[in-house]
Amino acid sequence: MDCIFCKIIRGEIPVYKVYEDDDSVAFLDANPVNPGHTLVLPKKHFANFEEAPEDALLATMKTVKKVGRSLKDNLGILGYNVYENNDPIAGQVVHHLHFHVIPRQVGDGLKLWHQGKYNHGEGQAILNKIKIN
Ligand code: AMP
Ligand code: ZN
Repeated sequence: MDCIFCKIIRGEIPVYKVYEDDDSVAFLDANPVNPGHTLVLPKKHFANFEEAPEDALLATMKTVKKVGRSLKDNLGILGYNVYENNDPIAGQVVHHLHFHVIPRQVGDGLKLWHQGKYNHGEGQAILNKIKIN
């Protein structure tokens, strides 16, 4: 398969590997927002969040937690963002599910989103569409 992250998992492209177990792997993003910016992914190829079964998500999240702990313990940071670009419209470039774990520094300028407000009735209307029964 031509997936760059599958190639990394097979050892065909070198990375700075932070952690690995049977089901997941974590390595440094080659273009870090901040030093220590780590990508965490299931070893099996799933294009996005919905494609991945729950056991793969659980294994990956356990690794996200381990990585977050290591960043906090060893980089002197107070917090980090866990971020996933799901599908191209959301900025996903590599179509192998992965989570960004981004250490935060005071004044680093990273701004993840702007927020608006619902007009009267809009909140209820959107709820009517997406509510899960
Ligand atoms: P996304 O936009 O969520 O798909 O992010 C893909 C990420 O993968 C980007 O932040 C890239 O910097 C990173 N990336 C792409 N190729 C490599 C690589 N060979 N080693 C490490 N990180 C990579
Ligand atoms: Zn892949």
